[in-house]
Amino acid sequence: MILVCGGAGYIGSHMAKRLRQEGVDHVIFDNLERGNEAAIGGSQFFRGDLRNRDDVAAVFEQFDIHLVMHFAAYIEVGESVKEPAKFWENNVTAVWNLLEECRERGVEQVVFSSTAAVYGEPSVVPIPEDHPKNPTNPYGDTKLAVERMLSGYGRAYGLRSVCLRYFNACGSDPEGELGEDHRPETHLIPRILLAAAGRAPEITVFGTDYDTPDGTCIRDYVHVWDLADAHLRAVRYLEAGGASDQFNLGSGNGFSVREVLDAVRSVTGLDFPVSYGDRREGDPARLVADSTRARSVLGWSPEFDDVAVCVRHAWDWMVAHPGGYGS
Ligand code: UDP
Repeated sequence: MILVCGGAGYIGSHMAKRLRQEGVDHVIFDNLERGNEAAIGGSQFFRGDLRNRDDVAAVFEQFDIHLVMHFAAYIEVGESVKEPAKFWENNVTAVWNLLEECRERGVEQVVFSSTAAVYGEPSVVPIPEDHPKNPTNPYGDTKLAVERMLSGYGRAYGLRSVCLRYFNACGSDPEGELGEDHRPETHLIPRILLAAAGRAPEITVFGTDYDTPDGTCIRDYVHVWDLADAHLRAVRYLEAGGASDQFNLGSGNGFSVREVLDAVRSVTGLDFPVSYGDRREGDPARLVADSTRARSVLGWSPEFDDVAVCVRHAWDWMVAHPGGYGS
């Protein structure tokens, strides 16, 4: 039985759907603070908070867990700068609770959601996994801290882990059942779509003077359904006895903010107000993954590597759920 922590959130719910499709036994553990009950689907559900060790013990008591997946983190960079304490508590202390419970009960396999933010400002693009780790914000710090915690637990206690470093997760499941519903929404694609749908007055481009061909930031947009596939491969890799490892997950293609705006115009057939503002603090000009290792070791091959497909799937879900989950 797999424990899917944060399985009611954006990426975790897509993972749980994939596990349902594959007939893999699992239970979602989520406090529903930022997750959505409507995203749980037909999975078993245990409501609890990883910050509460009793909740963690209770889910292990009730289910025969052999592998843990962790998606249950706070993710907003700006919030992490303003309120680092919350991030260290939820993204690190809570994971310590989880790992300690694993250690007590002999659970030795963990798949962890990490991030490109562990690298900070890149010195090489595309970014390989052995690039120096210099996070530029507390969000990245907390993810790197857990990677290091996992590494120490591996050396000392035999825990095996796979850390998956996502670049820009986007899109929604191709069947249109699940979507992205962050509140507040800070990510580029859903924010543009909200402007296209008339649910936001405009979209502001954060900076047009970057050292890139069109002056806007370039990012590597990776489809959430491809992320779920990579996680499933990581599960199978660990279950087959694979050693601890870290993998970048990106499509390998970089798209500028202006290119994403164009993709939204062409997918939706709509135009919308765009304003051009200052740079957002801490945004590197170019973040593109070198995902060679995930491809060669996990056999991962992203199916949706065009940002227009990500936009199409995200738009379809937004049109079908005009108020997000629950509508
Ligand atoms: N961005 C933007 N306007 C927005 C939100 C984001 O111009 O309203 C830019 C942001 O500066 C970055 C890119 O879009 O260059 C992707 O940002 P997002 O927050 O989606 O992901 P991040 O790269 O920060 O993980």
